[in-house]
Amino acid sequence: MSHVADAMSLRVAVVGSGPAGLYAAEALIKQTDGAAQVDVLDRLPTPYGLVRYGVAPDHKSIKAIARYLQKVLEHPSVRFFGGVELGRDVTREDLLACYDAVIYSTGAMVDRHLGIPGEDLPGSIAATDFVNWYCGHPDAADHDFDLSVEEVAVIGVGNVAVDVVRILAKTAEELRDTDIPENVIEALSASKVRKIHLIGRRGPAQAKFTTKEARELGELGNATIHIRPADMDLDAASAAEAEADRHIRGNLKAMHPWTAEPAGERPRHIDLRFWLAPAEIIGNGRVEGLRLERTTLSEAGRVLGTGEYETLPVGMVLRSVGYQSVPLAGVPFDVRSSTIPHEHGRVTGGTREYVAGWIKRGPSGVVGTNKSDAAETVTTLLADLSGRTTEAGQGIETLLEARGLQVVTYADWLNLDATEIALAAELDRGERVKLGRWTDMLDATRA
Ligand code: NAP
Repeated sequence: MSHVADAMSLRVAVVGSGPAGLYAAEALIKQTDGAAQVDVLDRLPTPYGLVRYGVAPDHKSIKAIARYLQKVLEHPSVRFFGGVELGRDVTREDLLACYDAVIYSTGAMVDRHLGIPGEDLPGSIAATDFVNWYCGHPDAADHDFDLSVEEVAVIGVGNVAVDVVRILAKTAEELRDTDIPENVIEALSASKVRKIHLIGRRGPAQAKFTTKEARELGELGNATIHIRPADMDLDAASAAEAEADRHIRGNLKAMHPWTAEPAGERPRHIDLRFWLAPAEIIGNGRVEGLRLERTTLSEAGRVLGTGEYETLPVGMVLRSVGYQSVPLAGVPFDVRSSTIPHEHGRVTGGTREYVAGWIKRGPSGVVGTNKSDAAETVTTLLADLSGRTTEAGQGIETLLEARGLQVVTYADWLNLDATEIALAAELDRGERVKLGRWTDMLDATRA
């Protein structure tokens, strides 16, 4: 028996090593003066979650957050257990038997659906899959996107859509100094994409992308960008929203120059459209077009169809309409919001279970948003466990060993890390080139 209040004995499992999980580990260390023991589990052999597999490869300053998170993993009270999947290798009950508390921070890794005919045609692609592919996620290594098409539609006007458009619009040469896997750079260099339609179902005042991301589209050297002037017209409610909101005003200002006809030709062109809702993805055996309905907003701000349609002759549709979390076996889940219900991070109806990041609050905010989110969860956890006495269970390593699981340790990950850095030097390509195949990654961890 041991007192959890005596923080030396507090053992916490964090499931998911993305920003939310590692900020939670950091908060546990800080709020217990380094006394808590934290094991961070991840199904992948690599840490950093969306910093490695979601942040766009050409956003190097955001990717550098990994260097900060690395310090958390290197704290003597923190251990990394890569290649361990909750639900496959360990159960919720196993974790509750081994630890005083469990924090779930598994993110939101699947795409939301549009629910329109043709969504499953070959050539209709979830942005999550495309992002995983160019980020070198091992689950996406076998994807083979047909970039021989000339026109592509990207549905949704959030930051992920803008990332996807930028990667499609840049030359492979411009992307060579990023960590994009070599086979993806080759596929991008053979791309025949000439025109990218970026489509918002509401107006420019409702665009979700941030102003910094919008500006980057205007700064592309390889692509022109245009908005039809009439698409920038605002209804009275949107104009009032813009008046009150700096972010909206910033976006409108960034977009305004794009209403002028682009001066000169560039190899690629971005057509930014608003007031168009996807109605059907058309094609015989594969995507041949996207049918859109013109929209307007109701007084309450709801999207209304006008009955007026147009069809874009696109050969690929990238659906970038948001991510969602998946349920974890045995853990309460709200199917409407696709999140785990909680009070200040404590799982509602759970047993010494907590939640942080996108599976707690839904897929919103930037990487840094997870820091305060995780700190709140850890404050709740420590208050709950203060003074309580628990049975100290066996260590997770005994259980994993008994199951014959080959865990990827932090030292193993550093081998893979070094291999990727060496590969970049060999190819004369920036700081790192990712390995994107499970076998190559696991071989490198054992180097
Ligand atoms: P998001 O910001 O929620 O944007 C989703 C977009 O999809 C919205 O424009 C939304 O329009 C649209 N949409 C949803 N359902 C639709 C439907 N049925 N038909 C047509 N359009 C539909 O999501 P996200 O782009 O996936 O980004 C997720 C989070 O990651 C955000 O917080 C984002 O800022 C963050 N992120 C940040 C960066 C960065 O900081 N550089 C980069 C990438 C992602 P409505 O508004 O009309 O619903």
